[in-house]
Amino acid sequence: MDFQAYIPGLSPAEPGPLARFTPPLEEGVISTWLPLHAPAGSWVLDPFGFSPRLALEAARAGYRVLVTVNNPITRFLLEMSARPPSETDFKAALADLIAAKKGEERLGVHLYALYLTTCEKCGNEIQADSFLWRRGEDAPYARVYTCPNCEDAGERVATSQDIEKARKIAATDNLHRSRAFERVTALEDEDRVYTEEAIAHYLPRPLYFLTTIINRLDSLNLTLERLRALNALILLACDAGNTLWDHPSERPRPKQLNIPSQFREYNLWHQLEHGLNQWTETGSGVPLEAWPNELPESGGICIFEGRLQDLTDDVKKQLPIKAVIGSVPRPNQAFWTLSALWAGWLWGREAVEPYKRALRRRRYDWAWNATALNAAFTHLFGLLHLGAPVFGLLSEPEPPFLASALTAASAAGFDLESLALRTQHDPIQLLWTCGEHLKRQPNEANIEDVKEAIYSHLIERGEPASYLHVHAAGLIALAKAHALKQKDQEFDEALRNSQTLIQTALEEDARFVHYSNGESVDTGLWGLSDVALSKEHRDDETKGLVLNLRDSSRHLGATHSDKNESLSDLVEIAVVTFLQKNPNSIFLDVEQEIYPHFPGLLTPSHAMIYSVLSSYAEKENGEWKLRAEDVASARRNEMNTIASLLDAIGRRLGYSTRKQDRIHIWEQNGTIERTFYILASALVGRAISETPFPPEQTVIVIPGGRAALAAYKAQRDPSLARRMKSYRVVKYRLLRTLIELPVLTRETFEEQVAGDPLEKSKSQMMMF
Ligand SMILES: [Zn+2]
Repeated sequence: MDFQAYIPGLSPAEPGPLARFTPPLEEGVISTWLPLHAPAGSWVLDPFGFSPRLALEAARAGYRVLVTVNNPITRFLLEMSARPPSETDFKAALADLIAAKKGEERLGVHLYALYLTTCEKCGNEIQADSFLWRRGEDAPYARVYTCPNCEDAGERVATSQDIEKARKIAATDNLHRSRAFERVTALEDEDRVYTEEAIAHYLPRPLYFLTTIINRLDSLNLTLERLRALNALILLACDAGNTLWDHPSERPRPKQLNIPSQFREYNLWHQLEHGLNQWTETGSGVPLEAWPNELPESGGICIFEGRLQDLTDDVKKQLPIKAVIGSVPRPNQAFWTLSALWAGWLWGREAVEPYKRALRRRRYDWAWNATALNAAFTHLFGLLHLGAPVFGLLSEPEPPFLASALTAASAAGFDLESLALRTQHDPIQLLWTCGEHLKRQPNEANIEDVKEAIYSHLIERGEPASYLHVHAAGLIALAKAHALKQKDQEFDEALRNSQTLIQTALEEDARFVHYSNGESVDTGLWGLSDVALSKEHRDDETKGLVLNLRDSSRHLGATHSDKNESLSDLVEIAVVTFLQKNPNSIFLDVEQEIYPHFPGLLTPSHAMIYSVLSSYAEKENGEWKLRAEDVASARRNEMNTIASLLDAIGRRLGYSTRKQDRIHIWEQNGTIERTFYILASALVGRAISETPFPPEQTVIVIPGGRAALAAYKAQRDPSLARRMKSYRVVKYRLLRTLIELPVLTRETFEEQVAGDPLEKSKSQMMMF
C-alpha cells in the first residue's frame, strides 16, 4: 500500500464559535487535497456535516459542496459561516434587545446588573468576568474580575452580596426552568425527563438570563437577518451558560454531560456584548442553497437537511459526485444533547422534533459509533461511482475511534488507500475509494499478519512508536486483508476481536519491547528488542531514501549506515538539507517538503521539526535560515579545528594519536585508550551504531548547539537514551576549554569529560 504524505495546514487564527465542540482541523488541508482528486467546479459531498469550516473551505476553493446535516445547531453554524449577517445587523439587533423594556428598566441595564460585584480593592461596583462554583452548592465561592478603576484583577472570595444575589435569583428558578423546558418538549412528552436532565446543566442565573432574552425575541420585530444575528449571539451565551466549564480547565473539549466538581459560571452579558467578533471573523461568504437548488460552477454550499440515509440515489445521476470529504464524526453526548436543547430555545419545539433522539440517547460507545458510521458508509456506497475517492479527517484520534471508522468503511465496501498519522493531537488523514462490491467476502484475521505489520513499521521507523501508531499499523494490515469484521458479526464483537488481536500480537511477540510505567499495553511506547534490531534489514525503499538524503548532507559529518537510522535522525537530515538549499523558508514550506519523504505513519511531529530548526537555524519574520556557524563550509572548518584540538590534547597527555576512518584514536604502547567520534549533527544514534569501539572507550563530540536536540531525541526515544547512557557525549566547547588549561593531566581530562552533561532544560517541553 502506497501511503500518501500528510497534508500540512495552519491552525486557524480564531477557533470560531462553539470551537470546543467542532472538530479541531487545520486550515488549508482540504483545499490542497481537492484539486488533486476532483476538477474545480465539480460536486463534492460532505455526508457527515460535522465541520462547517471544512465545507466552507472546499466551497471557497471553487467546489460545489453538498452537505447533509441533521443537527440543527451544526446546520446553523454552517449557514452562518457561508452567509454571515453584516456587522451592522449584529449591532442593530443587540441594540434593539438592550433597549427593550423590562418593567420600568431597560433590559440591558437589568441583565448587566446580574453580574455586578464589588471590587475588593477600591470598592467600586464592577462586572465579574465569571463566578466559580462547587458542584451541589447554592452560591458561588469566588468571583473573577479585572477592575477597570484600580486594575485589581484575579480570583477573589465571593462576598455576602454575591451569595445573596445568587440565592435571590434561585428563588424564582422554578418558573424560568419550566419556561426553558416548554420551549423544548411538551409537558406530556415521554421524553420530558431527558429534557429536564439536560436543563439541569444550567445554574439559575444563566437560565434566567437566557429565558429572559429568548422570551423577548418575538416582540422585538427584528428583520430576518437581524434575528439570525441575535440568535447567533444567544447561541454563544447558551454554550457559555452551562456548567460544563471545569475549573481549573482540564477537559477543554467535553464529550459527556457531567457537572464538574468545580466549574466556572461565565458572565453572559459579556458573551452577548463580545460574541460578535466570533461570527464576523469567519470571513467572506459563499453561495448558499438548499438541496435540490442549483449552485454556480464557481462553488458554494448546498445543504441537505436531514440524514444521509434520506438522500436518494438521484444525486448519482444528477450531479454526479466526484469526491467525498468529511470530518469523521465521533460521539459527543454533551454536544448532541445540548444541540437539541438549544434548537428548542432558539427556534421552538418543531425544530427539535427531527433531532429529538439526541435527547434520549444516553450512552454512545465505539460499537454504536461503528454501527452508525457503517450505516452512513453503506448508503454512501450507493451514491458513488466505482473508484470515487473519500477523504476523511479523523480528529482527536484514539485507537478505538480509528478502529471504528476503518471497520465501518471496510464493511461497507470501501477500500483503504492511505492513512497518514502525525500525533495523537492531529487529525488522521484517511483515503478510501469506493470498491467494486458492497458485500465482499471477509477473511479470517491472522495474527501473524498483524505482527509483521507492526514489526515492519518499527523497523522502518527505527525508533519506538506510540500505541496509536503500532495499533494503526495492525489495523491497516487487517483492513488490507479484509479481516476487520466477519460476516454476520456485530460491530462490538468485531472491534473487540481486532483489539485483542493487536494487543496479543504486541504482548506475545518477543521482538517487541514495551517502554511504559504502566501495565496497560496502550500506554507509553513500543519498540524493538535488541535481538530484533540486530537482525534488521531495512527494505530497499527506505535505503534509497536514506541515501538520497545523505548525498546532499555530507556537512552533517556522518557516514552512511543503513542500519538503525531513526526517524528523528532522518528528519534532522532532511530538514537541514532543505534549509541548506532553501534559506528563508517558513515552517509550512519545511513541512510541505519534508512530509513526502515520510508518508503514512512516519509523519514527523511539529515538535520534532521545531527541535531540528531551533538547533540549526534562526527565525526572522517567520522565516527560518541556517545559523552562520551551521552553514556547511563553516561546520567543516570547525570540525577540522576540533580534530586538531583532539590531536594536540592527546599528545599533551602523552598519547600517540591517529585517525581511523572518521574516528580519532589515542593510544599508548600500541593499546587503544580513548576514541573520539566528532559530529556536526545530533546523529548520536548513528555514531553509536557505527563506532566499532567499546562504549567505555568512546567519546562522542558534538557542537554545543546540538546538545538540546540530542537530549530531545533521547527523551522521546528510550532505546536511544539507554544506548547513550554508556557513552560519553561532550560538546566542542569542552575541548576548547581543556586546551587552554596550563596544567592538564589524564585525571583532569577524565573528570572534565564525565562532567559535561547534555543540556536538558530546553527540550523538556517538547515530548513528542
Ligand atoms: Zn477596583
